[in-house]
Amino acid sequence: MQDTVSLEELEKTAKMGSEETTMGVLGSFALKNAKEIQSWQDHFCELAGVYALCLDEDGAPISHFSGNPSDVEVIRKYVTDVRIHNIYKRVSESELEDQAVEITEVPNLRLAAVAVRHNGIAAAVWIVCGVFPEADYEKEFFHLPPIESFGYQISEMKFYKVLDLLRETLNALIGVETSRSIAVAKSKESRQQELEMTTSFHRAETMTEIVSLLDSDETIENIMATVLSKLCSYLQISNGFTCKIGTRGLMDIIVQWTAPGVKKMFTDTTDQEVCWFLGNEKAVVISSDTQMNAGEREQLDQFGIRALVSMPIIINGAPRFYACLSETKENRIWSIDDIKFINDTIRILQSIITKRIQTNSLASSFASLEAVLDNVGSSIYVRDIGTGVLLFANRSFKKNFSKELAENRLIELFESNIPSRSHSGNYEVHHKQREKWYDVYYTRIKWVDGRPVSLCAIYDITEKKLYQRRIEQQAYTDFLTGLYNRMCCEKDLARYVDEARQNGTTGALMYLDLDDFKHINDSLGHQYGDILLQDISKAVGRIEGISNSCYRMGGDEFVIIVPPESYYRMDKIMEEIKNAFATPWYLKDSDYYCTMSMGVVKFPEHGDNVSELIRKSDVAMYEAKKSGKNRIAEYSDNIDSSSIHRLDLEKNMYDAIGKSCNEFEVYFQPIISGAAIGNGEKDEEKHIAAEALVRWNSTRLGFLNPDEFVPLAEYLGLITPIGNHVLKKACECCRQWNEAGKGDYAVSVNLSVVQIMQNDIVDVIRQCIEDNHINPNNLILELTERLAINDLARTKQTLLDIKDLGVRLALDDFGTGYTAISSIRALPFDIIKIDKDFVKDVATSEYSRAFIKMMAELGQTIGAEICVEGIETAEQLEAIKGMGVKYIQGFYFDKPIRRAAFEEKYVYD
Ligand code: C2E
Ligand code: CA
Ligand code: CA
Repeated sequence: MQDTVSLEELEKTAKMGSEETTMGVLGSFALKNAKEIQSWQDHFCELAGVYALCLDEDGAPISHFSGNPSDVEVIRKYVTDVRIHNIYKRVSESELEDQAVEITEVPNLRLAAVAVRHNGIAAAVWIVCGVFPEADYEKEFFHLPPIESFGYQISEMKFYKVLDLLRETLNALIGVETSRSIAVAKSKESRQQELEMTTSFHRAETMTEIVSLLDSDETIENIMATVLSKLCSYLQISNGFTCKIGTRGLMDIIVQWTAPGVKKMFTDTTDQEVCWFLGNEKAVVISSDTQMNAGEREQLDQFGIRALVSMPIIINGAPRFYACLSETKENRIWSIDDIKFINDTIRILQSIITKRIQTNSLASSFASLEAVLDNVGSSIYVRDIGTGVLLFANRSFKKNFSKELAENRLIELFESNIPSRSHSGNYEVHHKQREKWYDVYYTRIKWVDGRPVSLCAIYDITEKKLYQRRIEQQAYTDFLTGLYNRMCCEKDLARYVDEARQNGTTGALMYLDLDDFKHINDSLGHQYGDILLQDISKAVGRIEGISNSCYRMGGDEFVIIVPPESYYRMDKIMEEIKNAFATPWYLKDSDYYCTMSMGVVKFPEHGDNVSELIRKSDVAMYEAKKSGKNRIAEYSDNIDSSSIHRLDLEKNMYDAIGKSCNEFEVYFQPIISGAAIGNGEKDEEKHIAAEALVRWNSTRLGFLNPDEFVPLAEYLGLITPIGNHVLKKACECCRQWNEAGKGDYAVSVNLSVVQIMQNDIVDVIRQCIEDNHINPNNLILELTERLAINDLARTKQTLLDIKDLGVRLALDDFGTGYTAISSIRALPFDIIKIDKDFVKDVATSEYSRAFIKMMAELGQTIGAEICVEGIETAEQLEAIKGMGVKYIQGFYFDKPIRRAAFEEKYVYD
């Protein structure tokens, strides 16, 4: 027998125990408590069709088995506690095995365990049971019959997939949580550091303020009151008082201090009974947890004191006064730092009082002052204001500034910034040679012998400065890529522009936006999108001249500043950026191309303020996008005027799409059968299809051609709703024409690359075909070559899926130069549409004719048909005769016309 506690028992303790103790590392990850885990697991099991329970790092259950209780009861007959424990041990103790699957006595019941690791240790183990359907198991080897009619059943293949999913999800989750908790810990640490630094700085400041009281002409009572108030405020305690014990054994309170809202401890101040903690030659320290006898306790309770420190003030070798600091509002445990601070302060008070009492005994006063100043945390020196002679330097100062002292540079270094006639104050000094920053506190006081002196106290604040810098650095860095961020960009750009303007030099700002980055993100997942952004950042950051001025503005947008001193390399820099994008990025085991569009402005020529320059570079970048992406555009005033139009377009486009795309009208241009042209008689040319071409009848902007808004719609991702609308309308027409007209009509619809990358594109097309009951062969979808650029494998799969619907695919605008002929072979196209550009001069150019002819022949060998578009004249038509072109399209036959006109002419004639 295994010596394990039964799971039921453990389950009970898990419920009783506090959440953290039973959850271990798992407690630190996103599934915060047992309840959340249970609910997540229930959902997961329901969706996946498995039974599961979760164990923590020690093997104690965190959740119950999810699933119908009567099913679970049956399963638990075979999946006993011992079995669970054993399989848990298998995956949690081995570092190699994250997953184990075992058979049970029942032929169709499998038991699996999946370990989720955190720093190599199993943070949680999920026990998963699956019940297979009949097809997935063999009965012969088993004595028992299979279990049947279970709520959840799952195929063997899916069972393994579910285990993978579970492991991957949880590992991803724990990864996210780990980096989150690291970040949290880091920020906690820096907050702690900041706190410590502020405290130590504050301490030195308080101390110097107290030291400067040496010079005070005030009465001893007033000095005591000031010291008490500074000391108590610094320590944040509620009460403080000083007192004197008289000859009759009674005490007089000299000064009382209380924090705001706190009651005074003594209402009568003369002839009070002496408290037990006063009258000693040594300090008495009582924290809230200090043990004491009942009598002592009673007296403290009388005053409501929860913690106290009392110290004698020794004058001429005997305690003359006592200072007492106490806390009545809350518990307090004194730290060593507290006690040291109180001790130092009281010693300063002691020497001030000594000085006041025996102004004639200079030597003794000086000695005790020196002793105090030597122990103060900061470096202090005192100089005669009249003669400039150094009168005193404390130990810390001599140790830290011996060189400066020897070189006689004190005034130059620490006092040159003192405003004339200022009595006291502080400022920062940067010591370049030492790479250090100091805070200098200065004050003018009377020295022990009465002459006016200046006292300077110097604190090293280098740590604090560096810390501030680090914080600043963090605020200026983009977390994902390590580049600087937008905030830093704006700050730097302002500096570079100023510099260029002052020196009469030039710099440049480049706005870079990745083309179709969203598709990589959508198809490979965000983690690969992130990797790509990091790789790109690295590649760009390596380029000489801009390595310190690359910024990520957010998303897939970057800014690169070419500082004036690198401007001579401008052409080279652009070349190198282009090169970086001309090579593929290696992601998830294969190569991906990601191109970019970039806008360039110069400063100060194109603007001298940050927002203007950024806006103009963005305008130029959009120009690059609009003219086909994968290029660089320089800013000019012309394109700027069009950008105002663009904002207008953008807003109206959102509105038009909001109004269910009614403003987008579909025109049709006939596509003619090439077989007909042999006859020469135009009348007999048969139209066999129509290309659907969208127009925008905007109520506010008027009539717009696709060239004027399709690029922007693609850029904004709005081409998807518009394109879906066109597809729907085209399919509707196709149905009507085939029902009412004479022939077999096909419609050809343009699909944007953006649409193809949508996960639901296949469903959208299928739905359109089904809704209209059209023959899928009558739907042709046109795609441009641009689509092959990003992710060939995925695109190919999508196209194959579309083809499976029975739809025909056409490669549009072929020859315009995006890809090689090889990509035609890689993708399953039925039709190749040769771009208008080749037709323009087909009547005169041998090359154009040869190209079309070659394409037609190539088409034949790979089984694709050729369509020639842009035929405008009879000569052009003549020139392509006999080349074996299957389809022809062009103004020679008809322009794109409205649906009604098209139907009248070509459908119901
Ligand atoms: P495209 O797919 O190459 O469409 C053919 C374009 O050539 C159409 O311009 C058509 O009017 C024009 N065209 C036809 N015959 C001739 C001719 O003989 N001579 C000349 N010079 N031009 C001719 P349109 O309608 O302005 O469309 C321009 C582009 O806008 C289309 O080029 C296509 O890329 C895009 N587009 C149009 N409708 C849609 C749509 O619904 N979805 C998407 N994604 N893009 C569309
Ligand atoms: Ca087209
Ligand atoms: Ca075309």
